[in-house]
Amino acid sequence: MDRKLYLVKEGEISLKGGNRGLFEKKLRNNIKHKLRPFSSTLEKQKGRIFAYIDPECPDEKIERALSTTFGVTGYAKAYIAEKDIDSILNVAKSVLEHSDFRKKGTFRIHVVREDKKFPLTSKELAIKLAEVVHALFPLLTVDLDNAENVLYLEVRKECYLYSSQKKGCGGLPAGTAGKGMLLLSGGIDSPVAGTLMAKRGVSIDSIYFHAYPYTSDMALEKVKTLASLIAPYLQGTKLHIVSFTKGQEYIRDHGREEEATIMFRAAMMRIASEIARESEASALITGEALSQVASQTLDAMAFTDSMTDFLILRPLVGMDKEEIINLAKRYGTYETSILPYEDSCVVFAPKHPVTRPDKRASKEHFDTLHLENLINEAVENREIISFDAEGKRRDDS
Ligand code: ATP
Ligand code: MG
Repeated sequence: MDRKLYLVKEGEISLKGGNRGLFEKKLRNNIKHKLRPFSSTLEKQKGRIFAYIDPECPDEKIERALSTTFGVTGYAKAYIAEKDIDSILNVAKSVLEHSDFRKKGTFRIHVVREDKKFPLTSKELAIKLAEVVHALFPLLTVDLDNAENVLYLEVRKECYLYSSQKKGCGGLPAGTAGKGMLLLSGGIDSPVAGTLMAKRGVSIDSIYFHAYPYTSDMALEKVKTLASLIAPYLQGTKLHIVSFTKGQEYIRDHGREEEATIMFRAAMMRIASEIARESEASALITGEALSQVASQTLDAMAFTDSMTDFLILRPLVGMDKEEIINLAKRYGTYETSILPYEDSCVVFAPKHPVTRPDKRASKEHFDTLHLENLINEAVENREIISFDAEGKRRDDS
Protein backbone atom coordinates (compact mmCIF):
# COMPACT_ATOMS: atom_id res chain seq x y z
CA MET A 1 0.00 0.00 0.00
CA ASP A 2 1.13 3.54 -0.71
CA ARG A 3 2.65 5.52 2.10
CA LYS A 4 0.73 8.40 3.62
CA LEU A 5 2.05 11.81 2.67
CA TYR A 6 2.04 14.91 4.84
CA LEU A 7 3.41 18.25 3.71
CA VAL A 8 5.03 20.01 6.64
CA LYS A 9 5.89 23.71 6.67
CA GLU A 10 8.76 24.94 8.73
CA GLY A 11 8.84 28.57 9.78
CA GLU A 12 11.67 30.48 11.34
CA ILE A 13 14.19 27.73 10.62
CA SER A 14 14.49 28.95 7.07
CA LEU A 15 16.11 32.14 8.44
CA LYS A 16 18.84 30.32 10.31
CA GLY A 17 21.78 30.92 7.94
CA GLY A 18 24.78 28.69 8.54
CA ASN A 19 23.14 26.48 11.13
CA ARG A 20 20.09 25.87 9.06
CA GLY A 21 21.05 22.30 8.20
CA LEU A 22 21.34 21.42 11.88
CA PHE A 23 17.96 22.90 12.73
CA GLU A 24 16.28 21.11 9.86
CA LYS A 25 17.84 17.81 10.76
CA LYS A 26 16.72 18.19 14.36
CA LEU A 27 13.19 18.99 13.26
CA ARG A 28 13.03 15.93 11.02
CA ASN A 29 14.42 13.74 13.80
CA ASN A 30 11.95 15.13 16.33
CA ILE A 31 9.04 14.32 14.04
CA LYS A 32 10.36 10.88 13.09
CA HIS A 33 10.87 10.08 16.74
CA LYS A 34 7.25 10.81 17.58
CA LEU A 35 5.95 8.65 14.74
CA ARG A 36 7.74 5.55 16.00
CA PRO A 37 7.31 2.59 15.93
CA PHE A 38 5.94 3.42 12.47
CA SER A 39 8.54 4.11 9.84
CA SER A 40 8.72 7.40 8.01
CA THR A 41 10.93 9.07 5.45
CA LEU A 42 11.20 12.82 5.74
CA GLU A 43 12.46 14.55 2.64
CA LYS A 44 13.35 18.17 2.45
CA GLN A 45 12.12 19.95 -0.69
CA LYS A 46 11.66 23.65 -1.31
CA GLY A 47 11.00 24.97 2.21
CA ARG A 48 8.85 21.97 3.05
CA ILE A 49 9.26 18.58 4.49
CA PHE A 50 7.59 15.78 2.59
CA ALA A 51 6.80 13.17 5.22
CA TYR A 52 6.10 9.73 3.74
CA ILE A 53 4.68 7.61 6.54
CA ASP A 54 3.79 3.95 7.02
CA PRO A 55 0.12 3.66 5.94
CA GLU A 56 -0.63 1.73 9.14
CA CYS A 57 0.20 4.79 11.26
CA PRO A 58 -3.12 6.35 12.35
CA ASP A 59 -3.82 9.91 11.19
CA GLU A 60 -4.48 10.94 14.81
CA LYS A 61 -0.99 9.90 15.83
CA ILE A 62 0.54 11.79 12.91
CA GLU A 63 -1.49 14.91 13.65
CA ARG A 64 -0.66 14.75 17.34
CA ALA A 65 3.01 14.51 16.43
CA LEU A 66 2.91 17.41 13.98
CA SER A 67 0.77 19.68 16.15
CA THR A 68 3.11 19.35 19.17
CA THR A 69 6.48 19.63 17.46
CA PHE A 70 8.06 23.07 17.67
CA GLY A 71 9.48 24.20 14.34
CA VAL A 72 6.35 23.09 12.43
CA THR A 73 4.25 26.07 11.34
CA GLY A 74 1.67 24.15 9.33
CA TYR A 75 0.88 20.78 7.85
CA ALA A 76 -1.57 19.06 5.56
CA LYS A 77 -2.36 15.54 4.53
CA ALA A 78 -1.65 15.43 0.82
CA TYR A 79 -2.52 13.05 -1.98
CA ILE A 80 -0.34 12.29 -4.95
CA ALA A 81 -1.59 12.47 -8.52
CA GLU A 82 0.21 11.55 -11.69
CA LYS A 83 1.25 14.30 -13.98
CA ASP A 84 -1.78 14.32 -16.21
CA ILE A 85 -4.97 16.23 -15.91
CA ASP A 86 -7.26 13.21 -15.58
CA SER A 87 -5.31 11.85 -12.65
CA ILE A 88 -5.26 15.33 -11.03
CA LEU A 89 -9.04 15.71 -11.37
CA ASN A 90 -9.71 12.22 -10.04
CA VAL A 91 -7.52 12.73 -7.00
CA ALA A 92 -9.05 16.20 -6.47
CA LYS A 93 -12.47 14.59 -6.32
CA SER A 94 -11.41 12.12 -3.70
CA VAL A 95 -9.57 14.82 -1.66
CA LEU A 96 -12.73 16.93 -1.67
CA GLU A 97 -14.95 14.02 -0.69
CA HIS A 98 -12.76 13.39 2.35
CA SER A 99 -12.12 17.04 3.16
CA ASP A 100 -13.79 19.34 5.64
CA PHE A 101 -14.98 21.59 2.82
CA ARG A 102 -18.24 23.12 3.91
CA LYS A 103 -21.25 22.77 1.65
CA LYS A 104 -22.04 26.50 1.81
CA GLY A 105 -19.75 29.50 1.72
CA THR A 106 -16.74 30.40 -0.41
CA PHE A 107 -13.73 28.65 -1.91
CA ARG A 108 -10.68 29.22 -4.01
CA ILE A 109 -8.11 27.09 -5.78
CA HIS A 110 -4.43 27.65 -5.11
CA VAL A 111 -2.09 26.29 -7.76
CA VAL A 112 1.70 26.19 -7.53
CA ARG A 113 3.09 25.17 -10.92
CA GLU A 114 6.72 24.57 -10.26
CA ASP A 115 7.17 22.39 -13.29
CA LYS A 116 6.89 25.00 -16.00
CA LYS A 117 6.72 22.31 -18.69
CA PHE A 118 3.33 21.06 -17.53
CA PRO A 119 1.00 21.57 -20.54
CA LEU A 120 -1.72 23.49 -18.67
CA THR A 121 -1.15 26.91 -17.08
CA SER A 122 -1.97 27.62 -13.44
CA LYS A 123 -5.11 29.42 -14.49
CA GLU A 124 -6.29 26.59 -16.70
CA LEU A 125 -5.68 24.12 -13.89
CA ALA A 126 -7.56 26.32 -11.43
CA ILE A 127 -10.56 26.53 -13.73
CA LYS A 128 -10.72 22.76 -14.19
CA LEU A 129 -10.40 22.16 -10.44
CA ALA A 130 -13.09 24.77 -9.73
CA GLU A 131 -15.41 22.78 -11.97
CA VAL A 132 -14.82 19.70 -9.80
CA VAL A 133 -15.61 21.73 -6.68
CA HIS A 134 -18.80 23.08 -8.23
CA ALA A 135 -19.95 19.63 -9.25
CA LEU A 136 -19.57 18.36 -5.67
CA PHE A 137 -20.59 21.48 -3.75
CA PRO A 138 -22.92 23.51 -6.00
CA LEU A 139 -23.64 26.10 -3.29
CA LEU A 140 -20.02 27.21 -2.86
CA THR A 141 -19.01 30.47 -4.54
CA VAL A 142 -15.54 31.68 -5.48
CA ASP A 143 -13.75 34.23 -3.32
CA LEU A 144 -10.12 34.82 -4.23
CA ASP A 145 -9.27 36.90 -1.15
CA ASN A 146 -11.00 35.43 1.89
CA ALA A 147 -12.14 31.97 0.91
CA GLU A 148 -13.28 29.72 3.76
CA ASN A 149 -12.27 26.59 1.82
CA VAL A 150 -9.10 26.20 -0.22
CA LEU A 151 -8.04 23.39 -2.52
CA TYR A 152 -4.31 23.30 -3.18
CA LEU A 153 -2.49 21.76 -6.12
CA GLU A 154 1.28 21.71 -6.42
CA VAL A 155 2.77 20.53 -9.69
CA ARG A 156 6.33 19.46 -8.99
CA LYS A 157 8.12 16.13 -9.51
CA GLU A 158 4.67 14.69 -8.94
CA CYS A 159 1.38 16.45 -8.31
CA TYR A 160 0.21 17.02 -4.76
CA LEU A 161 -3.32 17.89 -3.73
CA TYR A 162 -4.60 18.87 -0.32
CA SER A 163 -7.37 20.87 1.25
CA SER A 164 -7.29 21.55 4.94
CA GLN A 165 -4.00 23.00 6.16
CA LYS A 166 -3.60 22.91 9.91
CA LYS A 167 -1.57 25.36 11.94
CA GLY A 168 1.48 24.05 13.77
CA CYS A 169 2.85 25.51 17.00
CA GLY A 170 5.75 27.42 15.38
CA GLY A 171 9.02 28.11 17.17
CA LEU A 172 12.29 26.23 16.83
CA PRO A 173 12.92 22.50 17.24
CA ALA A 174 13.41 21.46 20.86
CA GLY A 175 17.02 20.44 21.38
CA THR A 176 18.66 23.13 19.25
CA ALA A 177 19.30 25.67 22.02
CA GLY A 178 21.01 23.75 24.81
CA LYS A 179 19.44 22.43 27.95
CA GLY A 180 17.49 23.94 30.84
CA MET A 181 16.04 22.66 34.11
CA LEU A 182 12.42 23.68 34.63
CA LEU A 183 11.21 24.17 38.19
CA LEU A 184 7.84 22.56 37.69
CA SER A 185 5.20 23.07 40.35
CA GLY A 186 1.58 22.09 40.13
CA GLY A 187 0.47 25.61 39.23
CA ILE A 188 -0.64 27.25 36.02
CA ASP A 189 2.57 29.10 35.32
CA SER A 190 5.53 26.76 35.32
CA PRO A 191 4.27 24.25 32.71
CA VAL A 192 3.69 27.20 30.38
CA ALA A 193 7.15 28.61 31.14
CA GLY A 194 8.81 25.30 30.25
CA THR A 195 6.80 24.94 27.06
CA LEU A 196 7.69 28.47 25.96
CA MET A 197 11.41 27.82 26.41
CA ALA A 198 11.09 24.54 24.48
CA LYS A 199 9.51 26.69 21.78
CA ARG A 200 12.81 28.56 21.51
CA GLY A 201 14.66 25.27 21.13
CA VAL A 202 15.67 24.51 24.73
CA SER A 203 15.69 20.86 25.72
CA ILE A 204 14.18 20.56 29.18
CA ASP A 205 14.22 18.35 32.24
CA SER A 206 12.02 19.22 35.19
CA ILE A 207 12.34 19.35 38.97
CA TYR A 208 9.47 19.17 41.43
CA PHE A 209 9.87 19.86 45.15
CA HIS A 210 7.50 17.58 46.97
CA ALA A 211 6.90 18.44 50.64
CA TYR A 212 5.32 15.20 51.76
CA PRO A 213 3.28 14.92 54.04
CA TYR A 214 2.51 18.66 53.86
CA THR A 215 1.65 18.23 50.22
CA SER A 216 -0.31 15.13 49.31
CA ASP A 217 0.43 12.35 46.87
CA MET A 218 -2.34 13.84 44.77
CA ALA A 219 -0.19 16.95 44.35
CA LEU A 220 2.67 14.76 43.11
CA GLU A 221 0.35 12.90 40.73
CA LYS A 222 -0.81 16.24 39.39
CA VAL A 223 2.77 17.31 38.65
CA LYS A 224 3.45 13.98 36.92
CA THR A 225 0.36 14.54 34.79
CA LEU A 226 1.58 18.05 33.92
CA ALA A 227 5.00 16.68 32.98
CA SER A 228 3.37 14.11 30.71
CA LEU A 229 1.17 16.79 29.12
CA ILE A 230 4.08 19.07 28.24
CA ALA A 231 6.45 16.20 27.35
CA PRO A 232 5.40 16.11 23.66
CA TYR A 233 6.30 19.80 23.26
CA LEU A 234 9.56 19.20 25.12
CA GLN A 235 10.35 16.08 23.03
CA GLY A 236 10.29 14.11 26.27
CA THR A 237 11.40 15.15 29.73
CA LYS A 238 12.85 13.70 32.87
CA LEU A 239 11.15 14.65 36.11
CA HIS A 240 13.34 14.88 39.19
CA ILE A 241 11.22 14.56 42.33
CA VAL A 242 12.99 16.14 45.27
CA SER A 243 11.86 15.84 48.83
CA PHE A 244 13.04 18.81 50.86
CA THR A 245 10.54 18.57 53.69
CA LYS A 246 13.22 18.41 56.38
CA GLY A 247 14.84 21.52 54.94
CA GLN A 248 11.54 23.36 54.89
CA GLU A 249 10.82 22.40 58.48
CA TYR A 250 14.31 23.50 59.47
CA ILE A 251 13.80 26.87 57.77
CA ARG A 252 10.41 27.23 59.50
CA ASP A 253 11.86 26.39 62.93
CA HIS A 254 15.19 28.21 62.72
CA GLY A 255 14.79 31.03 60.21
CA ARG A 256 13.04 34.38 60.38
CA GLU A 257 9.35 33.89 59.82
CA GLU A 258 8.94 36.67 57.26
CA GLU A 259 11.85 35.23 55.22
CA ALA A 260 10.58 31.63 55.12
CA THR A 261 9.51 31.74 51.48
CA ILE A 262 12.63 33.39 50.10
CA MET A 263 14.88 31.09 52.14
CA PHE A 264 13.06 28.08 50.72
CA ARG A 265 13.33 29.55 47.23
CA ALA A 266 17.05 30.10 47.76
CA ALA A 267 17.44 26.46 48.80
CA MET A 268 15.39 25.40 45.77
CA MET A 269 17.81 27.29 43.53
CA ARG A 270 20.79 25.62 45.18
CA ILE A 271 19.26 22.16 44.75
CA ALA A 272 18.16 22.88 41.19
CA SER A 273 21.64 24.17 40.36
CA GLU A 274 23.23 20.97 41.63
CA ILE A 275 20.86 18.85 39.54
CA ALA A 276 21.42 21.15 36.55
CA ARG A 277 25.18 20.67 36.88
CA GLU A 278 24.79 16.89 36.97
CA SER A 279 22.43 16.99 34.02
CA GLU A 280 24.74 19.29 32.04
CA ALA A 281 22.06 21.94 31.76
CA SER A 282 23.01 25.59 31.50
CA ALA A 283 19.94 27.43 32.74
CA LEU A 284 17.11 27.21 35.25
CA ILE A 285 13.57 28.04 34.16
CA THR A 286 10.76 29.26 36.42
CA GLY A 287 7.18 30.39 35.96
CA GLU A 288 7.68 33.64 37.84
CA ALA A 289 5.86 36.77 36.67
CA LEU A 290 6.75 40.17 38.07
CA SER A 291 4.70 41.12 41.14
CA GLN A 292 2.39 38.11 40.91
CA VAL A 293 3.15 37.18 44.53
CA ALA A 294 5.40 38.53 47.30
CA SER A 295 8.38 36.41 46.22
CA GLN A 296 8.20 37.72 42.67
CA THR A 297 9.21 41.34 43.22
CA LEU A 298 12.35 42.66 41.53
CA ASP A 299 14.25 42.51 44.83
CA ALA A 300 13.09 38.98 45.62
CA MET A 301 14.04 37.79 42.15
CA ALA A 302 17.39 39.54 42.39
CA PHE A 303 17.98 37.67 45.64
CA THR A 304 17.16 34.26 44.13
CA ASP A 305 19.37 35.14 41.16
CA SER A 306 22.24 35.79 43.54
CA MET A 307 21.90 32.31 45.03
CA THR A 308 22.94 30.49 41.85
CA ASP A 309 25.58 30.77 39.13
CA PHE A 310 23.05 29.56 36.60
CA LEU A 311 21.15 31.83 34.31
CA ILE A 312 17.50 31.90 35.43
CA LEU A 313 15.05 32.15 32.55
CA ARG A 314 11.64 33.58 33.41
CA PRO A 315 9.73 33.61 30.15
CA LEU A 316 6.50 34.79 31.83
CA VAL A 317 8.04 37.73 33.67
CA GLY A 318 6.12 40.40 31.77
CA MET A 319 2.84 38.58 31.27
CA ASP A 320 -0.38 38.95 33.15
CA LYS A 321 -2.40 36.05 34.42
CA GLU A 322 -4.90 36.11 31.62
CA GLU A 323 -2.21 35.77 28.98
CA ILE A 324 -0.64 32.90 30.90
CA ILE A 325 -4.02 31.17 31.28
CA ASN A 326 -4.64 31.46 27.54
CA LEU A 327 -1.30 29.79 26.86
CA ALA A 328 -2.04 27.08 29.45
CA LYS A 329 -5.29 26.37 27.61
CA ARG A 330 -3.52 26.29 24.27
CA TYR A 331 -0.93 23.80 25.52
CA GLY A 332 -3.56 21.72 27.30
CA THR A 333 -2.30 22.07 30.88
CA TYR A 334 -4.90 24.44 32.32
CA GLU A 335 -7.51 21.91 33.43
CA THR A 336 -4.91 19.91 35.33
CA SER A 337 -3.22 22.98 36.83
CA ILE A 338 -6.43 24.21 38.42
CA LEU A 339 -7.03 20.98 40.34
CA PRO A 340 -7.04 22.04 44.00
CA TYR A 341 -3.95 20.38 45.56
CA GLU A 342 -1.83 22.82 47.50
CA ASP A 343 1.80 23.28 46.64
CA SER A 344 4.62 23.29 49.10
CA CYS A 345 5.29 27.04 48.99
CA VAL A 346 1.74 27.76 50.11
CA VAL A 347 1.86 25.39 53.06
CA PHE A 348 4.87 27.10 54.62
CA ALA A 349 4.02 30.65 53.52
CA PRO A 350 4.46 33.30 56.22
CA LYS A 351 1.65 35.75 57.03
CA HIS A 352 3.77 38.80 56.25
CA PRO A 353 6.48 37.81 53.78
CA VAL A 354 9.30 40.23 52.97
CA THR A 355 8.80 41.73 49.56
CA ARG A 356 12.00 43.80 49.40
CA PRO A 357 14.72 41.56 50.76
CA ASP A 358 18.19 43.04 51.02
CA LYS A 359 20.33 40.74 48.91
CA ARG A 360 23.39 40.81 51.18
CA ALA A 361 21.53 40.51 54.49
CA SER A 362 19.27 37.72 53.23
CA LYS A 363 22.25 35.82 51.89
CA GLU A 364 23.89 36.06 55.31
CA HIS A 365 20.71 34.75 56.93
CA PHE A 366 20.67 31.91 54.46
CA ASP A 367 24.31 31.04 55.19
CA THR A 368 23.74 30.96 58.95
CA LEU A 369 21.04 28.30 58.44
CA HIS A 370 23.74 25.87 57.19
CA LEU A 371 21.46 23.88 54.98
CA GLU A 372 24.33 22.22 53.07
CA ASN A 373 23.76 18.71 54.40
CA LEU A 374 20.01 18.85 53.99
CA ILE A 375 20.51 20.16 50.45
CA ASN A 376 22.96 17.38 49.55
CA GLU A 377 20.66 14.78 51.03
CA ALA A 378 17.72 16.09 49.00
CA VAL A 379 19.78 16.01 45.79
CA GLU A 380 21.03 12.49 46.43
CA ASN A 381 17.70 11.00 47.43
CA ARG A 382 15.72 12.38 44.53
CA GLU A 383 13.61 10.09 42.41
CA ILE A 384 13.80 10.40 38.63
CA ILE A 385 11.10 9.38 36.20
CA SER A 386 10.95 9.89 32.45
CA PHE A 387 8.25 10.76 29.98
CA ASP A 388 8.81 10.10 26.29
CA ALA A 389 7.97 12.43 23.41
CA GLU A 390 4.41 11.12 23.37
CA GLY A 391 4.00 11.90 27.06
CA LYS A 392 4.12 8.24 28.08
CA ARG A 393 5.88 7.19 31.24
CA ARG A 394 9.08 5.29 30.50
CA ASP A 395 10.29 3.03 33.21
CA ASP A 396 13.91 2.64 32.21
CA SER A 397 15.11 5.52 34.38
P1 ATP B 1 3.08 28.19 39.45
O1 ATP B 1 1.70 28.53 38.98
O2 ATP B 1 3.99 27.80 38.33
O3 ATP B 1 3.08 27.22 40.59
P2 ATP B 1 3.10 30.38 41.26
O4 ATP B 1 2.47 31.59 40.73
O5 ATP B 1 2.31 29.52 42.15
O6 ATP B 1 3.67 29.53 40.03
P3 ATP B 1 5.28 30.40 43.13
O7 ATP B 1 4.64 29.31 43.92
O8 ATP B 1 5.77 31.60 43.81
O9 ATP B 1 4.38 30.93 41.96
O10 ATP B 1 6.46 29.79 42.34
C1 ATP B 1 7.16 30.50 41.37
C2 ATP B 1 7.93 29.51 40.54
O11 ATP B 1 8.80 28.73 41.37
C3 ATP B 1 7.03 28.49 39.88
O12 ATP B 1 6.54 28.97 38.65
C4 ATP B 1 7.99 27.33 39.68
O13 ATP B 1 8.85 27.55 38.58
C5 ATP B 1 8.82 27.39 40.95
N1 ATP B 1 8.23 26.53 42.00
C6 ATP B 1 7.41 26.88 43.00
N2 ATP B 1 7.07 25.81 43.77
C7 ATP B 1 7.71 24.75 43.24
C8 ATP B 1 7.78 23.36 43.55
N3 ATP B 1 7.10 22.83 44.56
N4 ATP B 1 8.54 22.58 42.78
C9 ATP B 1 9.23 23.09 41.72
N5 ATP B 1 9.19 24.37 41.38
C10 ATP B 1 8.45 25.21 42.11
MG1 MG C 1 3.14 27.55 42.73
